[in-house]
Amino acid sequence: MTMSKRVVAKSLVDKVMSLVAGAGKMVVVCHMTPDGDAMGSSLCLKHTLEAIGKKVCVVVPDCPPGQLMFLPGAEDIVVASYHPERAAALLRNTDLIWCLDFNDLKRIDRMAPLVEASHAPRIVVDHHLNPQIKADVLVSNPDKSSTCALLFLLLEDMGLVPEMPVEGATCCCCGMMTDTGNFSYNSNDPELYRILSILVAKGVDKDAVYTRVFNTTSESRVRIMGYGQYAKMQLLPEHKAAVITLSKEELDRMGYRRGDTESLVNVPLGIPEIVFSIFLREDDAGYVKISMRSKGAFSVKDLCERHFGGGGHCNAAGGEMRSSLDDALKRVMSLMPECDEMLEKIEKNNI
Ligand code: 5GP
Ligand code: MN
Repeated sequence: MTMSKRVVAKSLVDKVMSLVAGAGKMVVVCHMTPDGDAMGSSLCLKHTLEAIGKKVCVVVPDCPPGQLMFLPGAEDIVVASYHPERAAALLRNTDLIWCLDFNDLKRIDRMAPLVEASHAPRIVVDHHLNPQIKADVLVSNPDKSSTCALLFLLLEDMGLVPEMPVEGATCCCCGMMTDTGNFSYNSNDPELYRILSILVAKGVDKDAVYTRVFNTTSESRVRIMGYGQYAKMQLLPEHKAAVITLSKEELDRMGYRRGDTESLVNVPLGIPEIVFSIFLREDDAGYVKISMRSKGAFSVKDLCERHFGGGGHCNAAGGEMRSSLDDALKRVMSLMPECDEMLEKIEKNNI
């Protein structure tokens, strides 16, 4: 009897083990603008497989946020936008490719053709809905709150948890924390705490990870978060919605650096009457990044898929618009009747 019921089917674990056994060199790829879970799972896997003698390189499409550079092994990550030749060569000459924390090759941007062109077998480990990547082994479980937790369970089934060094455990802990807001949402699964206790027993300083990830800031971030909430948050109680916009000019004025607006979109959801929150950030003239968050059954994933060429999870999703910030805001406002219908349906069905 195992302690918990199987999350990854035995046939998949066996396939992963045989692919790993046959591979000396591996590349781990995660999504663009990698977050704590993408970086954490990739580096956890690297440390664990290196402990059994594999050669593992993590390749990311673009530069990871500075806040995550404390993760052990982060300094060895190859950034494809800085070193395209090196990234291409690694993918050409690898025995095995791991794709972690993304469900569609679109999420790795310019690296997609490199992965598609490679003849190496491909293992996907991910917790997003509806995986769209062809893989030799697809380990997909949207019930898991992070790819890190899912990866841990896979490594456990492979018998590799004892091999996971504290560096890998620290990376795993980081992703589990960031994808649950430090265990404040999607975090009622007791298994999370079983995993966490194993990681802490390995020597992970969970409190230090928290301080680095959630409690380390910068002047620009403090100002932007304050300004966004004080001056730029529009509440639409009649639609149970909140909208925040920040223009490039405003961001530049406050010394914006990537990552400075992380979690701003979550803030309005603390207001009981607000069910969904939308944040529009003008990254460049004519390009607006969209982030959405919601409560309960209101699916911002559906909204982002239908209207903004994006996706994500039911309660956290994103997309983009190639337009001015004004037009993006107008487009969002034009969707309010549709959002009202979604809310009505949820209320009627009592979900
Ligand atoms: P965030 O709002 O933090 O940028 O993204 C929240 C979640 O939405 C991410 O974890 C990701 O799953 C999804 N997401 C964000 N932007 C995009 C996008 O442009 N395309 C897709 N498919 N998903 C996105
Ligand atoms: Mn994730």
